Order: sequence, then C-alpha cells, then structure tokens
Amino acid sequence: MQSENNEIFCDFDPAAITLAQAEQVILQATQTVAETEIVAIRAALGRVLRRDAVSLVDNPPNDNSAMDGYGVRVADCSSSDSTKLKVIGQSFAGAPFAGKICAGEAIRIMTGAKIPAGVDAVVMQEQTDFEADTQTVTIKAQVKLGQNIRLQGEDITTGQAVLKAGRRLTPACIGVLATMGLTEVEVSRKINVAVLSTGDELQSVGSALKEGNIYDSNRYSLHALLNDPRFNIIEKGVLNDEKSVIEQAFLQTASYADVVITTGGVSVGEADWIKDCVTQTGELIFWKAAIKPGRPITFGRMGKALFFGLPGNPVSVMITFEKFAYLALQKLAGQVIERPLRLSAKLLAPLKKRPGRCEFQRGVMRYNDKGELCVQKTGDQGSGILSSMASANCLIVLGSEETGKAAGDWVCVELFSTKI
Ligand code: AMP
Ligand code: MG
Repeated sequence: MQSENNEIFCDFDPAAITLAQAEQVILQATQTVAETEIVAIRAALGRVLRRDAVSLVDNPPNDNSAMDGYGVRVADCSSSDSTKLKVIGQSFAGAPFAGKICAGEAIRIMTGAKIPAGVDAVVMQEQTDFEADTQTVTIKAQVKLGQNIRLQGEDITTGQAVLKAGRRLTPACIGVLATMGLTEVEVSRKINVAVLSTGDELQSVGSALKEGNIYDSNRYSLHALLNDPRFNIIEKGVLNDEKSVIEQAFLQTASYADVVITTGGVSVGEADWIKDCVTQTGELIFWKAAIKPGRPITFGRMGKALFFGLPGNPVSVMITFEKFAYLALQKLAGQVIERPLRLSAKLLAPLKKRPGRCEFQRGVMRYNDKGELCVQKTGDQGSGILSSMASANCLIVLGSEETGKAAGDWVCVELFSTKI
C-alpha cells in the first residue's frame, strides 16, 4: 500500500472493507458496559441515561396564566365588545387566590399564577382598563374560552417517561429532569479510553524540534476529541516503533482500558508494527477500510478492550476517530447512536474523485446571495494537512462509486459531529 499522501494512483483496494461493513462489524463487536452510576442531575450533563427518567409531577402542575392580565368568565364577556367587571382579588405566581369568581367578577392575575375557580380565560393587561377608585376592569377585546391559560400537564404528565434510556443528556435534558422533580439519574459509568502515539519521529511540544522529528499532534487532537463527560482519558504517551515495546504496552493497557486508541504504524512500512502486535496480543478484526482519508485502520480486540489503530496522518486520525472509534464509544456508553446531520450543498468549484472509496473532503459551507447553501473544499486534501481541517466547517461526502464533480453540482455535506 502506498502512503496516504500519494494514494492518488491507487484508489481501489479489494482487501478493504466498506464503511458500512466496518460500522456493522464495530457495532457487533461492541457491548454496552453493564456498570452504571447514580449522579446528581447537575453532574449528569453529557452523560448517557441508562434508565428512563419518569416524571414525579405534572408540568404545569396546575392550570396557570400565560400572561399578566385579568382572569375572567367568558360568559360575562361574550355579549359586547366592552365589558366592565369587578376585580375581587389577585393571584400571583406562588401566591394563588383561594376563592372563586362569580358572574360579573374578575381577578388580577400574573404570569405563572394558578387559575382560580370560575376563571376560564385570561385577558392580557394591554387589552384592559383598570379603574382603581371603583376596583373595576373594562375588557376591550373579544375573549375566547381558554385563552392565555396553560393547562395542567400540557408539557409533561405524572409517570411519563420523557427521557428514555440511551439519551445523551443535553442542557435542555438537565432542565427537564428538574422540571420532573428528579434530583438524580442513573447513567453509564465513564468509558476508559487509553490514547497512545507511535513513531520514532515524534516529539512532544515544549522543546525545539530536533532534526528529522515532528511534533506529536495526534495525541492532542485525540485528547480534545475525547474531552467529554462520557469518557476518562488514560494518557499513555509516545511509543517508539519497536515491536516488543508496543506489544508490552498493549498487553498492559488492555488490562484496564475499555478502548485502546493508537495512531501511526498501521501501514505496511518497515516500522509499521501495529497490525502484527494486535495479532500477537489479541484478535485482529479488520485492518483496511475503503475510505479516504484513513484506509489503513486497524480494528481488533485485546482481552476485554477494543482496539483502534488509527493511521498516523493527522487528518486521517480525526476522520477515522469519528467514523469508527466514536461509533464504538457511543455504543459502549449505551447511547442511541447519533449520526452527523447531512445536507445538500452546491459546489463552487470542481472536485476530483476516483471510484472505489468513500471520500470525506474538508469543506467550507456558506450561503450565496440567492440563499443557496454552497460548499467548496479547503484547498489541498492531503491527509497530513491538519490546518485545512481547522478551516473546514463540514465534510463533503462522496460515495465510493461516485467520480469527480463539476462546479454547480449538488453534493452531500456532513456537519461535524459534536465531537469535531
Ligand atoms: P505512519 O502511519 O506511522 O507511517 O505515519 C504516517 C504519517 O503520519 C507520517 O508522516 C508520520 O510522521 C505522521 N504521524 C504519525 N504519528 C503522528 C503524530 N502523533 N502526530 C503527527 N503526525 C504523525
Ligand atoms: Mg510511523
């Protein structure tokens, strides 16, 4: 296999499995962790719910006003445009009016206040005139039954499982949990993910670059991708391209991690040991997928741990993380898999593509002056050009059998997942 940078000559590799097959194999090989923990709702943001969250209350808990104004009886208001009613009290949010209104009466009412007995509509303040001397209110508009009244349970009813197991909890979910009266929830334990780089040329940031070296960027982008409440990152540093060192590290790491993610060393170069090491220490499941960037990608198992040997090239790392490793991580955490949103956009400049592999090209999307969503690639698509990943806001997805595209063609674009 050629290096990822000059793969333009050989875009089809019969040994590579398709993206769809790879996804299926990964999902089949991945079991959701059995262990869960109970956490306070404030600490549950971004975690995966493992038991349906069932409401302890109705929301709203009782009928209440959607406006500041006057609670009235529709029967009193329907005959004429202008009705005068006696204001007999007030109902505030948290301080309801205990009595009942009868014919010819109204109640001053605030947003969120309980609707008193007898009231069947609320008239907004702006459609009324209040006379303090006589404690009367004139209703200046048509009144409809139930207007401006929020009904008990219209949002949530007692016993309703509003958030289902498998849900990744967003800020709105945390608010909904509080609305339901819940103080804590059951979520998956954190998934332990070990990250290590391989390569004799790698140098950590913080010292001047030595001749022939490069800075190790993959561990940093992987840390950033894994910086998430669902995951614990286990930092394993950099390994040299030495078979015995790599095997030793694999055996040790796989004994306590749920997932081991490495970068580099997955091609067939003389210093590429990852595939051999997985075969020696565990089970190799596949090692090539028909995608670009990222064809050499090793997936396997070591003891109880899943293993992802991502390519060395920094863009391939980010794409294969999202397409392969993140899929498994979501399933391990018991999450209903979230797929990136796909849209259609008009190409501003032609794209080259050979059939054989599904391609993800880095793109920038924006609207043109006709309001059409347009996209163009971010320059050179070499898989070592990480800066073009940073300037992208989407991926242009070209199916394996598709060929080049012309300017003006509509293409499929994928938004970066929450992880990119
Ligand atoms: P490899 O798959 O090990 O042959 O690596 C492919 C390319 O990615 C080479 O140019 C490596 O120098 C580069 N590379 C490998 N690991 C890293 C890393 N951790 N950070 C940045 N570049 C890397
Ligand atoms: Mg290498």
